[in-house]
Amino acid sequence: MPRVAIALGSNLGDRHANIAAAIAELRILATPAQPFITATLHDTDPQHCPPDSPCFLNTVIDLDYADDDPIGLLDKTQAIELKLGREPNPVRNSPRIIDIDILLFGETVLTHPRLILPHPLIHERPFVLLPLREIRQV
Ligand code: ADP
Ligand code: MG
Repeated sequence: MPRVAIALGSNLGDRHANIAAAIAELRILATPAQPFITATLHDTDPQHCPPDSPCFLNTVIDLDYADDDPIGLLDKTQAIELKLGREPNPVRNSPRIIDIDILLFGETVLTHPRLILPHPLIHERPFVLLPLREIRQV
């Protein structure tokens, strides 16, 4: 059962509600009775975003996932993004209701057209690294 670290971000709509809704959906995917850990919420200035983008609310969660299938998990996290109302936007880093990125999937190292593991930008993003370090020794 891999331990999986997932980054959440929202800078559109009710950010607290969006993060809470994503956590509730991800809790359903997690193995019951195993630790489901959430870092604190971080209010973050937008980085590499279009001008006048609103601030983000970011956090990281750590959960136990039953299947050894990272692409299957990506399918599910992308379905949650859509369910919560995220709309496709061709503009890079445009405001989004919810962003769900898989940071670490057990020990998996993967370069797939849809999924890179570990997430390649962890160390460039304090808004990911700081909450991740609250709950994981990285
Ligand atoms: P970003 O997360 O960089 O703001 P998107 O959420 O639009 O941008 O994701 C762009 C693409 O990144 C997705 O279509 C997804 O297939 C891909 N991707 C690659 N690696 C990962 C990962 N570790 N977690 C989530 N998405 C990933
Ligand atoms: Mg993403």
